[in-house]
Amino acid sequence: MANSAVARATTYTRGDDGYEHARQGSLWRTNTPDRFPDRIVEANSVEDVTAAVRAAKAAGQQVSVCSGGHSWSANHVRDGGVLINLSRLRSFTVDPITMTATAEPGIGGSVLLAELMKRGLFFPVGHCRGVAIGGYLLQGGFGWNGRALGPACSNVIAIDYVDANGDVRHASETENPDMLWAARGSGPDFFGVVVRFHLRVFPKPRFIGSSATVYRVDRLEELVRWIDRVGPHVPPEVELQFVMSRSPSLPPPLRPRSASSPVVIELAATVMAPSRFAARAATAFMSDAPKGAKIRVPLLPMPMSLMFSAAMQHYPEANWEADNLWTHAGADELMPHLRRIVETMPAPPAHMLWLNWAPQASLPDMAFTVQDLTYLSFYGGWLKGTASAASRWAHDNAAAMQALSTGIQFADDPGRPSRGISEEARSRLEAIRASHDPEGRFRRWIGEVPQ
Ligand SMILES: Cc1cc2nc3c(=O)[nH]c(=O)nc-3n(C[C@H](O)[C@H](O)[C@H](O)COP(=O)(O)OP(=O)(O)OC[C@H]3O[C@@H](n4cnc5c(N)ncnc54)[C@H](O)[C@@H]3O)c2cc1C
Repeated sequence: MANSAVARATTYTRGDDGYEHARQGSLWRTNTPDRFPDRIVEANSVEDVTAAVRAAKAAGQQVSVCSGGHSWSANHVRDGGVLINLSRLRSFTVDPITMTATAEPGIGGSVLLAELMKRGLFFPVGHCRGVAIGGYLLQGGFGWNGRALGPACSNVIAIDYVDANGDVRHASETENPDMLWAARGSGPDFFGVVVRFHLRVFPKPRFIGSSATVYRVDRLEELVRWIDRVGPHVPPEVELQFVMSRSPSLPPPLRPRSASSPVVIELAATVMAPSRFAARAATAFMSDAPKGAKIRVPLLPMPMSLMFSAAMQHYPEANWEADNLWTHAGADELMPHLRRIVETMPAPPAHMLWLNWAPQASLPDMAFTVQDLTYLSFYGGWLKGTASAASRWAHDNAAAMQALSTGIQFADDPGRPSRGISEEARSRLEAIRASHDPEGRFRRWIGEVPQ
């Protein structure tokens, strides 16, 4: 094992003992692609990052980056070049007076949120444990209470980053503002290594809770037509979503886990409000939800730890291929597709998510420019060692709905022309890239397909 040192980082060259462990360990999903970086640098400090970028520049190599490795497309695992893994950079600071925090990119959103909540504060981190803030914030970030607080990237007020020359720089509204603009939404297409985010934080909502309803799949059309009606008017403090799968979030002994188990729909309304009274008022529309539920759990207060655990039920460690789309299509256009999705639903943990995003306010000026009424996401998951019936399911279903898509979330690699930001934002991003990374030191998004 050649465990050479770049500053204090651990560095592996292809062929070294430990290289394969480092490559696979940089990913959350267990299906590791057949792509092999020349070197993997596990950074322990900002100096490690500057040294790694300078060494890559001197060697004429390209750089890819990961923080928590939760990219569904394994965007950072590329052939050749240097992979800089930032998962060990996890420090943070909180200032309750200015309502700001700073955090290194490798910290898990759930970990950061727990620290903020101890201090009576809140930030819209992602819904699952392990999703690091690095990739999540760069690509937009749809988090807890995100409809009220905006895409998480809109609450990034500054970044510290390592540029294409290996120098540490700061970007804010007044210093390198174009790099802050780019960092807020360009996701895996960003050209720099963010080593610290400066965040605007919020007061912790006094009431955090959820209500849940489980339906048989024969209620699907009724449910979709109901969401068509109420979705755009759901108050911003409420996140209305449903998951369709053959594996409802029941305790393991009760949970069916086979390809022949019936598909069920789990509808949830999560609410973060100033009081229980306000939460009840905000979710009053739920009394009008389709009848005939198998299980109905009324609005209950819930600790965030339980909210994360509930979200994690559908995301065990497994092989995954994911795909997604934004859409404002109505029930008439969506139903034929949803029927096909139900008919072809693979065994658990594969599932489909419907999120009623229904944006409330216009976006600030930033690269993140694509959002819509509804976010649909297909998670083709299959357990390690089992047949991969789910491997094409997500991509095939999303591709079949391409005509209804107004864009995608960047974490995936759809393998077809897709836009994660608007055409106008893209032109601006390319102009900024040309001036900040003229030699193309940083990798492009893996899903880039010529339009
Ligand atoms: C189980 C699960 C649940 C999820 N839930 C949500 C959710 O609720 N809401 C949501 O919005 N998204 C969610 N996602 C998607 C997630 O936000 C993205 O996959 C995101 O990229 C993960 O961040 P990461 O740092 O872990 O990823 P990584 O794989 O480390 O990063 C993704 C890409 O971002 C870039 N990048 C990462 N860090 C840096 C950095 N410091 N500097 C420069 N570039 C960098 C790189 O190009 C990298 O390839 C989820 C993903 C998973 C697997």
